[in-house]
Amino acid sequence: MPANIEGLDELMNSLESHQFIEEFAKKQKFEIECGSCGKTYKATSGKNVCPHCGAITNLNLTFNEES
Ligand SMILES: [Zn+2]
Repeated sequence: MPANIEGLDELMNSLESHQFIEEFAKKQKFEIECGSCGKTYKATSGKNVCPHCGAITNLNLTFNEES
């Protein structure tokens, strides 16, 4: 299930700063699937501990640099 944030496209088009977008995205929660037990849970950027089995998943948010 892809993260669908309403109005994000419009927001990105209206802003020049990618830094702002990155900070914004890091505060969002994403539904991810645990690689160990296969269950889904809400995760943020960085290290996340699965509430079902305790496995650590590293969620790296990357952004394309367009210069
Ligand atoms: Zn798990």
